[in-house]
Amino acid sequence: MQDIPNVFGSMVFNDKVMKQRLPKDVYKALKRTMDEQKHLNLDVANVVATAMKEWAIEKGATHFTHWFQPLTGVTAEKHHSFISPVGDGNVIMEFSGKELVRGEPDASSFPSGGIRSTFEARGYTAWDPTSYAFIKDNTLCIPTAFCSYSGEALDKKTPLLRSMEAIDKQAKRILKIFGNDNVKRVAATVGPEQEFFLIDKELYQKRPDLIYCGRTLFGARPPKGQELEDHYFASIKPRVSAFMKELDEELWKLGVLAKTKHNEVAPAQHEVAPIFTTVNIAADHNQLIMELMKTIANKHDLVCLLHEKPFAGVNGSGKHNNWSISTDTGINLLEPGETPYDNAQFLVFLCAVIKAVDEYQDLLRISIASAGNDHRLGANEAPPAIISVFLGEELTAILEAIENGTGYNKKEKVQMEIGASVLPHFPKDNTDRNRTSPFAFTGNKFEFRMLGSSASISDANTVLNTIVAEALCQFADRLENAGDFRAELNALIKETIKKHRRIIFNGNNYSEEWVKESEKRGLLNLKSVVEAAPYLISEKNIKLFTKHNIFSESEIHSRYNIMLEEYIKVLHIEALTILDMTKRGIIPAVVEYLKDLTEVVKNKKAISSEFNCKLEESLINTISDLAACLYKNVEKLDNSILEAKNQDGLLNTAKYYREVVFINMQELRSVIDNLETKIGKKYWPFPTYGELLYSVY
Ligand code: ADP
Ligand code: MG
Repeated sequence: MQDIPNVFGSMVFNDKVMKQRLPKDVYKALKRTMDEQKHLNLDVANVVATAMKEWAIEKGATHFTHWFQPLTGVTAEKHHSFISPVGDGNVIMEFSGKELVRGEPDASSFPSGGIRSTFEARGYTAWDPTSYAFIKDNTLCIPTAFCSYSGEALDKKTPLLRSMEAIDKQAKRILKIFGNDNVKRVAATVGPEQEFFLIDKELYQKRPDLIYCGRTLFGARPPKGQELEDHYFASIKPRVSAFMKELDEELWKLGVLAKTKHNEVAPAQHEVAPIFTTVNIAADHNQLIMELMKTIANKHDLVCLLHEKPFAGVNGSGKHNNWSISTDTGINLLEPGETPYDNAQFLVFLCAVIKAVDEYQDLLRISIASAGNDHRLGANEAPPAIISVFLGEELTAILEAIENGTGYNKKEKVQMEIGASVLPHFPKDNTDRNRTSPFAFTGNKFEFRMLGSSASISDANTVLNTIVAEALCQFADRLENAGDFRAELNALIKETIKKHRRIIFNGNNYSEEWVKESEKRGLLNLKSVVEAAPYLISEKNIKLFTKHNIFSESEIHSRYNIMLEEYIKVLHIEALTILDMTKRGIIPAVVEYLKDLTEVVKNKKAISSEFNCKLEESLINTISDLAACLYKNVEKLDNSILEAKNQDGLLNTAKYYREVVFINMQELRSVIDNLETKIGKKYWPFPTYGELLYSVY
């Protein structure tokens, strides 16, 4: 690729293309829709659709699709060609405004959590004009939201867009109080760092667990894991590098600001990160990144694993969600300012985040909960399931000084009077960066580090936007009615710090002491999906979501159901897969090896009873014992799957899967892993961890 600036965005119907191809008045009307979230009328839509179609056909497109994000967490598309018969056996290429703004896919096979019964199968998709249309695989893709016919959200994008409106509204109220009336729009910005594994395709195809579950269900530790720490930032191997190059190029064509790539901690683990952008676009782009990683890997005879924990014993993969809020005038509201007034405003936004995270720890935890992520959180590689905020020593000291009315800076004892004194500059890339914190302030943004690698970033950001909007709303209510603004502001900030300081923790989040300390502070430690899910439907959280029009009560209940259903299904598939691999792969291998061993003993003894058969006999003995164990554990797991059907209700069933089925799987696994270390290589039917982790170079 020669000319990156020219290639960048070449497959996107972006602002530049719109300006070139749309009549001025239509362009203006569309821009207004985008900037101010106004309704798009059909005349405008018709002109836009025609221009879009012509542009797409020139780029080789034959089809269009509404591209949406159902609650499966992956994207969905249903392609329609542009052809339309004209009666004489010929066709013309057509695409109408109606087709652009609205689609009606059958919604019955997507999860709805009980919102929509199959007899009301219709759902509709509606164009999100703030996210540009693009061409992928000769298809014009139109980013859309997906709703039921009665208007309930059936996707991850609709609530995200609603949460953007909420934070826009509340942040502008605060800005107005500080005299910033010129801001038209406030939006959350996000830069998600994406981790993943790349393994050889041929080996992948020999592991049904990777195929069906995305993770290995057993596998003995190889002699070398990540202990030498020689993979992190190491030079990128040629096959991986070829993959990364193609990925960058394809992402650039789609207007994705792919920026950073490097090797991660575990062998075969890597990361890519784009430059941050507005959150709904960041979410769309992250979906595209994940999708392209899979298809491009395939072209290189590789497989991209997005699962949170593909291999036990080495790090799993997450996604770091760098989040901030910015104005359309280009001001980052989490950036400490130059003047006392700016700084007071910064402190209000900072305090809103602290208050929000403390009051809604449960929702943040739920927003990143999945069966896959349960394997990572608290496993000494990712933050624990306990939510806390890292602010760094300096900012914490400033907040303490404000809270106590004492001087900041030991030497000078600077009085930190809000709105009157200037905050010191915080080093943006402070070296004391805490890598163990789930929610870390990094100079001008927060890095939410608990997201799973396979998840859509929409859930986490919907929650973040909403809870911060709520905190800002409460602040605005108070400050708007203040008699003495400065006094009220001081009191508000002091009170907030005092009330929510328990959520601030700058120490090692991976330590055992923190688990104890956090318990003392009364922080939540929701270890799994099953423990977290019920909090979603608490009165407090339903009140929050309905107040800001993010979810209706029935939408919340539907998401609660889907969360548990998905958890149950994932564990069920995993259990069936490990049983299948054991019965049809491991057991025959064990039997074969035992057969050969016993035959050797028999043959030796036929020649002479004097031969020493100690090795063979000892192996036969050990492996027979393990085989008996294997048999017992298979039976136990088999029975527990049957018993799961008898559980009452979703929550109890999910609990049963976590407490019984999952534990039985773990027990079976440990026997298999033990056998793997004792059975001859040629007998073992599946590629080992060593092979899977070290085969790409
Ligand atoms: P690190 O690995 O050190 O955390 P990276 O450079 O890999 O850092 O990722 C940092 C991410 O944060 C990038 O995606 C970057 O664009 C993003 N980012 C920077 N500023 C902001 C901001 N104001 N809002 C959201 N994301 C931001
Ligand atoms: Mg990071």
